[in-house]
Amino acid sequence: MPMEATSKTAALSAPAREFLGRAPGRQFIGGEWLQPTDGATFQAIDPATGAPIADVAQGGPADVDRAVAAAREAFEGAWAKTSPSKRTGMIWALAEAIKANLPELAELESLDNGKPVTYAKGDMAAAVNHLRYFAGWPTKIEGETLPVSFPDAHVYTRKEPVGVCGQIIPWNYPLLMAIWKLAPVLATGCTTVLKPAEQTPLTALRLAELIADVGIPAGTVNVVTGDGSTGAAIVDHPGIDKIAFTGSTVVGREIGAKCGRQLKRVTLELGGKSPNIILPDADLDRAIKGSYAALYENTGQVCSAGSRLFVHSSLHDRVIEGLAEFAEQAKVGPGLSEDTELGPVVSAEQHERVLGYIDSGTSEGAELVTGGGVPAGNGISEGGYFVEPTLFTGVSDEMTVAREEIFGPVLVAMSFDELDEVAARANDTDYGLAAGVWTRDISSAHRLAAMIRAGNVYINNWGMGDPSAPFGGFKASGVGREKGHANLDAYLEVKTVTTRL
Ligand code: NAP
Ligand code: MG
Repeated sequence: MPMEATSKTAALSAPAREFLGRAPGRQFIGGEWLQPTDGATFQAIDPATGAPIADVAQGGPADVDRAVAAAREAFEGAWAKTSPSKRTGMIWALAEAIKANLPELAELESLDNGKPVTYAKGDMAAAVNHLRYFAGWPTKIEGETLPVSFPDAHVYTRKEPVGVCGQIIPWNYPLLMAIWKLAPVLATGCTTVLKPAEQTPLTALRLAELIADVGIPAGTVNVVTGDGSTGAAIVDHPGIDKIAFTGSTVVGREIGAKCGRQLKRVTLELGGKSPNIILPDADLDRAIKGSYAALYENTGQVCSAGSRLFVHSSLHDRVIEGLAEFAEQAKVGPGLSEDTELGPVVSAEQHERVLGYIDSGTSEGAELVTGGGVPAGNGISEGGYFVEPTLFTGVSDEMTVAREEIFGPVLVAMSFDELDEVAARANDTDYGLAAGVWTRDISSAHRLAAMIRAGNVYINNWGMGDPSAPFGGFKASGVGREKGHANLDAYLEVKTVTTRL
């Protein structure tokens, strides 16, 4: 039964409202829309109000089992028979379908995740680009002929799809992260059981409808909704060949260990505490604006957020002043309001967690420059999960706020004097996802880029991404890469065929 429309859902466009009326309580398995086997549901919540949006199916082990069976059947049947050229056409068609339904998808994402609807439109556009990039690959996955040294032999390699994948999606960029996972599956000829996060299940269900519309064979993509126990059922299922996970390092470690025991292939995109370094010769306006966006964009809920800011001591006060000004002017509000710049955090749990980190900063002696509380007024509902954009300075490298991933709108700033010093401090973390350097000195820029142990280094920008450019972490930030052709290898096995002539 669809829920009563809340005041927010009443503000939605007709297509988004119609979707909420027809789809959330069901799962997409083997090309059909099925009720959960045991009838269990959970509520999708609007983070701007804390009110329920819809009842969503709580998938259990029996649902995962059905989805894995459907994915195996497609892998060995209809999808295996779909030529590379046809796969290209279907991936491209899916990109076009997302584009054609972009406003509706952005509204649903904004409602479910809380992010500004204008920002959600950017996520959808990035998803379209991502699919277009991967659409080109099916016809270009080539093996090699090998110049072996023994006589009368013909040896070649084939690159074959790894099989049935289990893909577990985070809540911070729900549709875009689903597409990052799905695109290489479709390009390589794998099939998948995909689970969106329990906080943000809606756009993955709308995506499933579009997947059916563009003619991707039944069972190729299955969407099972649920919580961490549903994710665990996917990881544990013996019929799955490869797991791809994005989420916390704690859960990633557990999944990696399970996959190790089962010898499943696994890629992990995990957390970060990424250093962002402003050198004394930086273009200051650009550095301040970029460093602000590096952390506060998506309300700080970005794995690669620039969350540890190192400012050269000669610029420290000016940078802090500039950042505080941006933070104080930021329009915090519900995602569905067109002028909102900073939405709520995603859930009551995250709200409590982020506020807890703010308390720890204050109690461990950091200086609160701005923010620190829960905003009010300006259309902000009391039940919503809002946090003021918060800035700490006077932070030491050992404080909790400087070491742990906060995943909210909380930036911590520190000062430094020497290049070697800041490189060592930047690397003094278990994480290694991203880093930023702001400078006009090309030597310092590339010296630091080489010294920092992180999968992505941004020079005079933060987070400029492209589907062709690999993304992923060193150290506790993950295993493997998404995006780019590096991502295809995670979904392919190499088979060597040796013939005695
Ligand atoms: P999480 O626990 O790592 O959850 C991520 C995904 O994994 C969700 O789909 C979750 O399901 C599923 N999951 C949870 N336990 C699982 C298990 N044992 N086996 C298989 N799947 C499992 O993240 P969270 O609790 O939502 O957020 C906590 C922190 O994680 C954040 O504060 C942030 O630091 C980090 N995080 C990082 C990213 C990133 O992009 N790297 C994204 C999100 C969160 P349900 O959520 O549906 O229960
Ligand atoms: Mg939600």
